[in-house]
Amino acid sequence: MADKPTTAPRRAPRAQSARTAHAAQTDKLPLDIEEVLRRIRHEVRSFADAAMFELAAKGHGSLFEQLIACILSIRTLDEVSLPASLRLLSRAPTPDALARLTPQDIDALIQPVTFHEAKAYQVHAIAVRTRDEFHGQLPADAAILQSFKGVGPKCAHLALGIACGHEVISVDIHVHRITNRWGYVKASTPERTLAALEAVLPRPYWVELNRLLVPFGKHVCTGSRPKCSTCPVLPYCRQEGVTSHR
Ligand code: SF4
Repeated sequence: MADKPTTAPRRAPRAQSARTAHAAQTDKLPLDIEEVLRRIRHEVRSFADAAMFELAAKGHGSLFEQLIACILSIRTLDEVSLPASLRLLSRAPTPDALARLTPQDIDALIQPVTFHEAKAYQVHAIAVRTRDEFHGQLPADAAILQSFKGVGPKCAHLALGIACGHEVISVDIHVHRITNRWGYVKASTPERTLAALEAVLPRPYWVELNRLLVPFGKHVCTGSRPKCSTCPVLPYCRQEGVTSHR
């Protein structure tokens, strides 16, 4: 008899805590990807477009230009890479024109970009090989694009999607982080996220996903402390891995 008052109160909070966690999880709606993307499309309408899409809108939408600009954007803020791409591509918009510059000329034009010196050599090599091996016309082929130094699946897919209308998914750090937080995929690297998304995402959204999630990731579902309390897709998002939010 004397033991009852001391054991009962200890169990109650544990049971309540478990019930609360279970309720929070079951309160979530099934992830309706069409509705989620519709809400994000509405949310990002006032934000600036991702750099590559903005560059295309400014008249630099060829496969060659998109690929070069994507290389410049790697590990570089859009606010830095976009003006640098515009400086370079305004001076040399074709493989032939870019091949005629020296890597030092290119470096001077793209200077604030991260790893600008290495990137200057990479884009120059792409221009020379495109001129000499492909008669100045970059083939719309992901495998060939990825054979260039400095070009991975993200840039190859993004350039092909924007410039050629190919149905491809481009997974950058924003797409990787956000789709995993939703619980839509469960993958440890961008490469694995790409494979997982190809298995579940309806094809009409393959190119648009990057266009939506880059600005959404910059302004709402940020790397640290995402703005969950005002997020339009909170009812659908499992918030996987989110330990602190605004
Ligand atoms: S609810 Fe939070 S974690 Fe989920 S998408 Fe929105 S901001 Fe990101």
